[in-house]
Amino acid sequence: MMSFSDIVQQLHTAFASGKTRNVDFREKQLKNLLRMYEETHTEMAQALDSDLRKHKQEAYVMEIEFLMNDLRTIIFNFREWVKMEKPPKTIVNMMDGVFIYKDPYGVVLVMGAWNYPLQLSLAPVAAAIAAGNCVLIKPSEVASASSKYIAETLPKYLDSECYRVVEGGAKETSELLQQKFDYIFYTGSGRVGRIVHQACSANLTPCTLELGGKSPCYIDKTADIVISTKRILWGKFINAGQTCIAPDYILCSKQVQDQFVKEAKSVLKEWYGENPKQSPDLCRIINQQHFQRLSSLIKGANVAIGGDMDPDDRYIAPTILTDVKPSDPVMQDEIFGPILPILIVENAYEAIKFINARDKPLAQYIFSNNEKDRELIIANTSCGGLCINDTLGHFAVESLPFGGVGASGMGSYHGKYGFDTFTHKKSCLLKDFSALGEKLASSRYPPYSEGKLSFLTTILKKRQGFSMKFLPYILTFGVGVASTLLVKFLSKDYD
Ligand code: NAD
Repeated sequence: MMSFSDIVQQLHTAFASGKTRNVDFREKQLKNLLRMYEETHTEMAQALDSDLRKHKQEAYVMEIEFLMNDLRTIIFNFREWVKMEKPPKTIVNMMDGVFIYKDPYGVVLVMGAWNYPLQLSLAPVAAAIAAGNCVLIKPSEVASASSKYIAETLPKYLDSECYRVVEGGAKETSELLQQKFDYIFYTGSGRVGRIVHQACSANLTPCTLELGGKSPCYIDKTADIVISTKRILWGKFINAGQTCIAPDYILCSKQVQDQFVKEAKSVLKEWYGENPKQSPDLCRIINQQHFQRLSSLIKGANVAIGGDMDPDDRYIAPTILTDVKPSDPVMQDEIFGPILPILIVENAYEAIKFINARDKPLAQYIFSNNEKDRELIIANTSCGGLCINDTLGHFAVESLPFGGVGASGMGSYHGKYGFDTFTHKKSCLLKDFSALGEKLASSRYPPYSEGKLSFLTTILKKRQGFSMKFLPYILTFGVGVASTLLVKFLSKDYD
């Protein structure tokens, strides 16, 4: 077996060879990745079933189809994204070339999380390939079947010099972080996120941290409670609550709490039957450690719905806790399981105060028909992303950047934002050696004088409303008028 240091060195050599700078090569790799999804989607669904007892519908909608469509967007558009850009110029650079080149960073490390183990490891990989990087992938060891699938299948489809997979847990991750990468993309907890960030700072390696946290969900009395309840329960209980953007807790009035619980009882019965444990649609908790952590959050709480558990099956029923206090154990950390606490607030102002007293969340949900209150919350709180009158949906909008802020992470991806994440925007100013250009720029040279300073401050001064956009047309028009006058003048002379 090769050491991590040798693998990373090999990737640096592959990047230096220039292979991944070739756009046709990138396209071939991206198409191979799509072919891998198309040819092995059954194995992907099996791995997800084995790790989380994920139902086929959740496996396809949230991971397999998501990956395929994200990749198709990249394949359809990345040639456009790769193109060098010509940003607007000012009068100072009128005669120059001003460009932005899209440079790959080099060798990128992508570390995924276990809750959506295929999607979270492979979606960033596609963006990194499109941007022209070599990639080392480390899936989460906690979702072992998915990790094995990636480690065994990916090398059969992608160039083995440029894209590698390594498996392992905390020990292997620590060893990997000692290597020199050009970019690190990490998805997981804030605890390990801090370790990754520290390792990045040692080498000044840029990074994206896709972390988690407690995502609040505010409901007011103007919301349609029947629709809101369904949308919130779906976002909470999909993947058994093990979703980074699941609504972590609800903030609402006592009256809304009562309506929500009443409605939730009938919705949960309709979805999962009298005994949710028998339902094939509910995932299981990933492992015993997380099961124990979650079961301790229910003990002693005010359980309005659910609360049943089976350690042998790692099963926890969809559970709703009412009249929860901020000091209760369930409110101390991200829940990451099928437990939904409700806390009482009287209005949007109280909700804002509550949210702002805590870390900035990854997602925030507002259920309300009151536009003023919605705007009030949006303007006075900070979060990675928002979804109004629904849950999770913003994640799937490819034109929206997905990522956290503050304790919920830094950087973003999805669609073009993923390509941008793995791309260094290299700026370039191109000048020629024309005598006129040199004359105009000569005021910068010593010996300095009042006259040169005055010329430079005048020419460099920013003027509002002055756009260089129309300058070429004005110049062309000017040249046209001047040449007409010259022709007329000369023909008069010959008359
Ligand atoms: P984690 O951070 O605990 O573990 C991630 C990986 O880090 C592990 O697989 C392990 O290989 C490694 N690791 C663990 N301890 C380590 C150590 N001491 N030193 C070095 N490496 C170590 O995260 P997790 O349990 O896989 O994921 C859950 C968290 O991820 C939740 O907070 C969730 O909100 C967040 N998450 C965020 C997103 C997002 O897109 N923002 C998506 C999914 C999950």
